[in-house]
Amino acid sequence: MASDACTPLTLSVLTSYIGRFAPSPTGPLHMGSLVTALASWVDARQHGGQWLLRVEDIDPPREVAGATDEIIAALDAHGLYWDGHITYQHARSHHYEAALDRLRASKQLYACECTRKQLRAVAAQSGDAAYPGTCSALDLEEQHLPLRLRVADEVISFTDLHAGAQLENVAGKIGDFIIKRRDFLYAYQLAVVVDDALQHVTHVVRGADLLDNSPRQIVLQRMLGYTTPEYLHLPLISSSDGKKLSKQTGAQALDNSNAVANLQKAWSFLGQSAVSATSKVSEFLSAAVSQWQRRRIPGIDTQMFHI
Ligand code: GLU
Repeated sequence: MASDACTPLTLSVLTSYIGRFAPSPTGPLHMGSLVTALASWVDARQHGGQWLLRVEDIDPPREVAGATDEIIAALDAHGLYWDGHITYQHARSHHYEAALDRLRASKQLYACECTRKQLRAVAAQSGDAAYPGTCSALDLEEQHLPLRLRVADEVISFTDLHAGAQLENVAGKIGDFIIKRRDFLYAYQLAVVVDDALQHVTHVVRGADLLDNSPRQIVLQRMLGYTTPEYLHLPLISSSDGKKLSKQTGAQALDNSNAVANLQKAWSFLGQSAVSATSKVSEFLSAAVSQWQRRRIPGIDTQMFHI
């Protein structure tokens, strides 16, 4: 187990860029996830970096049987090869527990017994969706209760490599947030922060739907003494009804036999100049690595449709 935290460290001596693709196995790869995978892969390769593959399978109720294998097969068919072995979050609970222990020891965690219904009622009355801190001083027994992180009243600022300057007061906007859920599952915020840090990830390239999660992740990184990676958030691809392309909005799985055409389409969503015609995935990708320009990526609010 410890080895999965160490492999990238050894290699990071050689490269100062470690990127990653971190799909949740909620469905097969579709055009939206290919855009993210391609951008993070090509940005890592152009910087002489590593590209890690981490399957974020810590939420069994949302998982779809067979999705992990389909995602891996699609990455393979599209020539997006990863470095080292694949990391699976379901096998990393000991790392998440160790982080919780540290937060508990410094009194930054507390158990919360508020129900969603109660919180909805409070928010409707106050017009403020942030958690009001109801349980923060109660010192409740942790058993069977979700855990929240105590968030300081401060502005978190960072500069996204594409979206530019970002500012958020997490305490004001979100409040103390959940990092271990009522169903005992680890929250995405905790797992992603622990893994990005233990895998020495330096660059997180992902969809703009996660931009507003970054300040919460930075809060956790600071509490755990981790370095904040560079963030680069990409505009989202929508289905014809304007909703983010996802399995829930009926996104089609990629046809692996059409890999070059799929890559070309993803490349044009990324605003990049056309790669000369080729029928080979490897040729397309090596041209893409030399042509890639971050500044050509469309703005994160650009509406882009995949019909
Ligand atoms: N697992 C998340 C997803 O599939 C992505 C997490 C991340 O890139 O931080 O949406």
